[in-house]
Amino acid sequence: MKWLLTLLPAFFLSISCTKKKEAAATDGSIITTIGMIANVTREIAGEQQEVINLIGEGVDPHGHKPLKSEVDRIQKAGLVFYNGLMLEGKMGSILTSRKEKGKPIFAVAEGLEGVSLIGDPAHPDPHLWMDISIWAKVATAIESHLSQFDPSKKAHYAARLSAYQESLSELQSYALMAFGTIPVDQRILVTAHDAFSYLGKAYGIEVRGIQGISTESEAGNKDINDLVTYLVEKKIPAIFVESSVPKKSVQAVIEGAAQKGHQVKIGGTLFSDAMGPAGSYEGTYIGMMDHNITTITNALGGDVPPNGFQGKLRH
Ligand SMILES: [Zn+2]
Repeated sequence: MKWLLTLLPAFFLSISCTKKKEAAATDGSIITTIGMIANVTREIAGEQQEVINLIGEGVDPHGHKPLKSEVDRIQKAGLVFYNGLMLEGKMGSILTSRKEKGKPIFAVAEGLEGVSLIGDPAHPDPHLWMDISIWAKVATAIESHLSQFDPSKKAHYAARLSAYQESLSELQSYALMAFGTIPVDQRILVTAHDAFSYLGKAYGIEVRGIQGISTESEAGNKDINDLVTYLVEKKIPAIFVESSVPKKSVQAVIEGAAQKGHQVKIGGTLFSDAMGPAGSYEGTYIGMMDHNITTITNALGGDVPPNGFQGKLRH
């Protein structure tokens, strides 16, 4: 019995040491990788809860190389929300390693019930936020993870989610109404990279990207020539640039079409993988989508109020 009495203090000491180590390993913060996830998380968590977003406005997540400070934040966070489906290309291994350690982390675009992913099953299209009804499911999933993370705020999160879902459902109605006003043979969206396939599928618009799904490969000359031929044949009036993608390849397409006697204009800048400036309406998920819906509809010959859904857009 004497040996037990000698061992006990050491045993309790080691338990308390492990606990201290765990407490030091997390700072309790909530971290998100992209603005669209940060915005939805903030809508549900409310202003008192700090949510830190890593990849900011105008930055392309596909090629973003994580900074040392971002790696630290991911490792120390209390809870991490990221998109997944390889959107966060170079950040992927750090996110996976956190997952393997069993720390709270959730890929919002992966494993959503009732959502069929677009593209090659081995590398599906990650741009799920372009379909408002899918992003509403993401909001519900985020709420459930927040409630698990801090069960004391469950009722608060649930109430905020339900208010936010109402706004999303109004935005969805606006999208369906707006795109429905574009003449049927003009419902073709040509953009710099393939970020809009979910939007096309959800709202009945044919989508062509100049680059592939990822922005990491330069569009080849053949892709440009094929697209020019397509634009000329279909008499498409406008193509679009994106805030997080260089305009170079879009310009090459416009010049190519002009050489074949077809005038194509730039229909506007769309938000694809990043939102507008922080603090602005376009810097929210709803504002970003409103901007995209309204800009696409107007450039392709549809009819929507110039200031968009709820009149909040400033051009
Ligand atoms: Zn993208």
